[in-house]
Amino acid sequence: MKLLKIQLLCLLCLLSFVFYKTTNALATTSNTTPWPNNTVFYIENKTIPIWDKIQSCIDEINKLTNVKMKKIEISPDSPSAYIYFEYKTGGGNYATSIGYANRPIKIHFNADYRTMHELMHVLGFIHEQKRSDRDNHIEIIYENFNQDNSKWNDSEILKKEENSINLTEYDIDSCMQYWCSAGGTKVPWYKRMFTPNYNNEYITMKYKKDPHLKFGTNEHLSPKDILGINTFYKSNRRLRRRKHKKI
Ligand SMILES: [Zn+2]
Repeated sequence: MKLLKIQLLCLLCLLSFVFYKTTNALATTSNTTPWPNNTVFYIENKTIPIWDKIQSCIDEINKLTNVKMKKIEISPDSPSAYIYFEYKTGGGNYATSIGYANRPIKIHFNADYRTMHELMHVLGFIHEQKRSDRDNHIEIIYENFNQDNSKWNDSEILKKEENSINLTEYDIDSCMQYWCSAGGTKVPWYKRMFTPNYNNEYITMKYKKDPHLKFGTNEHLSPKDILGINTFYKSNRRLRRRKHKKI
C-alpha cells in the first residue's frame, strides 16, 4: 500500500512536470527563428542621440542571457544578417523582423523608451498581451479603446496569437508587455480624479491578480524575460557539448 502511494506520488510529480513544461512555456511563434549560434551581430551608431541607452541594453543582454550581441563593421566579409539602428522623429519605435532573418534588420527609434522591447523583438519575442493565454491573466476593456486608432489596437493589443509558444508563465513585468492604458481614449480633465487611468488615458488592460496595478513600463529584463530568452537560446555550453558528441 505504501509503495502504491509512493508510485502515485511520483506519477503526479511527473504529470505536473510534463504539464508545466507544455503549458507554461516570454512568447514566440512557431515560424520564428532564433539567431544561429546564439550570436546577434550589430552595427554601432554613436550618432544616435540615445546610443548610450541602446548600448546599456546590449550590455544587459550580454551579461544576463545566453545571447551574445557582437559589434561588427561593414565589410565584404561581414555576415548577411545584422541589426542596424536609425533615429528619426516620427514613425514610432519598431523593428523590421521578429527573430532571425537572413538580411540586415533595422530598429527605428523616435524616442528613448522601449529600447529593450525592440531588441527583444529582434531576438524573437512577441508582445506579452498577444499570447494565447493572455485572457487568463489580463482583462481587456474594449469600451476604453480609442476608436480612431483601431488599426494599431486591433493588431497589437486585441488580436491574439492563438498558437504562440509560451516560454514562461504570463509575465506582467516583461519588457514585451504594453502599458495598461495603451490605445486608450483620453480621460476628460474633470473625470481624472475619479476614473482609473494612466497618463490621463483610460485603462485598456487590467491585471487580474492585481486590478489596480499600473504596468508595462519596464525597461530592464525581468527574471522571466531572462528565463524565456535562455529557453529559446540554450546555453552555449550545452550546444558545445552536443557538438562534441556528434564528433
Ligand atoms: Zn513591440
